[in-house]
Amino acid sequence: MATYVLVLGDGTGGLVVSNLLSKQARAKDLQVNVRLIGNSPLHTYQPGVLFLPFRKPGYRSLADIQRKNSDFVGPGVEYLSETITGIDPQARTVTTDKGSHCYDWLVLALGCRTLVDAIEGLPERWGTRAHGFYTPDSALKLADALEKFEGGDLLVDIAEMPIKCPVAPLEFVCLVDEYLTQRGIRSRTNLTLMTPLSGAFTKPICNEMLTDMLVAKGVKVVANAPLAVVTDKEVACPDRKTVPYDLLVTIPPHEGSELIDAADLGDGLGFGLTDKLTLKAKKAERVFLLGDNTNVPTSKAGSVAHFQAEVVVHNLLREMAGEESEPLADGHANCFIETGFGKAILVDFNYDRGGPIC
Ligand SMILES: Cc1cc2nc3c(=O)[nH]c(=O)nc-3n(C[C@H](O)[C@H](O)[C@H](O)COP(=O)(O)OP(=O)(O)OC[C@H]3O[C@@H](n4cnc5c(N)ncnc54)[C@H](O)[C@@H]3O)c2cc1C
Repeated sequence: MATYVLVLGDGTGGLVVSNLLSKQARAKDLQVNVRLIGNSPLHTYQPGVLFLPFRKPGYRSLADIQRKNSDFVGPGVEYLSETITGIDPQARTVTTDKGSHCYDWLVLALGCRTLVDAIEGLPERWGTRAHGFYTPDSALKLADALEKFEGGDLLVDIAEMPIKCPVAPLEFVCLVDEYLTQRGIRSRTNLTLMTPLSGAFTKPICNEMLTDMLVAKGVKVVANAPLAVVTDKEVACPDRKTVPYDLLVTIPPHEGSELIDAADLGDGLGFGLTDKLTLKAKKAERVFLLGDNTNVPTSKAGSVAHFQAEVVVHNLLREMAGEESEPLADGHANCFIETGFGKAILVDFNYDRGGPIC
């Protein structure tokens, strides 16, 4: 009898886990039906969004960083373009705008999203005084704003953690430093990074190294400074500390999927309560999670989703064979960090240790 595995979310994590499961099940001659459901007919290469504001060659328009999602779906995976509307882990069913689906095992890879509305004063200034680069639309608008910028206070701000790809704001700072230098206006720009963290990054070794690198580039780092309010000329923290800006580039707060909380699988912010070692849901049987919609203590990154997919597939196949899941996930992440002027750093870490490699 066939086993039905439903994978929700057609981004990086959903695609990798579906393809890998189908491949390994076929190699073992197992009858596993892998059904992938998502509502993004086009796959956006999210790391490419970072380059849109600078109109770098190969990154000038959205078409440069998008492909048909169906092109990435491997043999044996049934791909359905539907919007998921509900998850019932007790009945083992999922509802969508087109019907309902039963499952034997469920994998959640619904990603996370930015919430401009969560910050006072930000929605009414979004796209005019305040910009972002975490979504394609905002990144394209930022390209226009950067072109008009002639110097002054350029503030790059991380509103709060967690965010996707915590190194992306640092890369943006490095790339904007290069961009302003090439335009001959770096010397009349005060470039500031404002962050809720104690420095540029979360891991201690990386934090020290990356903070030093930014300071050497003449970037002022304002640490321990979450964002509370945006006005026309400055931003303010909850403790009322203010930082001025002429051009604000902010990474808004992130939230996981409302579906996860509605199914009573989440932490109240849409991130699924996940066993960090097995990647099983903490509040339901036969449910695994990977990628940005987990609450495990590692980066929200495509590389992480990729490594997690190997553990999820391994454990799914074990459970199908009547065996226990193994605690194999270690939070492994590796991130290439663009540091400007054609240079980059590779950092590699897991839950417990790590730092820069080269
Ligand atoms: C600017 C930027 C730079 C980045 N740079 C890097 C980098 O250099 N390296 C790196 O490793 N990572 C990077 N990342 C992070 C990386 O893109 C994400 O961590 C990765 O895409 C996570 O995969 P995911 O599958 O968890 O989520 P996603 O890829 O976001 O996929 C979630 C999917 O779920 C679907 N979905 C959600 N809700 C529903 C619903 N109700 N119905 C149907 N479908 C739904 C969405 O349509 C989407 O396709 C970057 C991200 C950004 C924004």
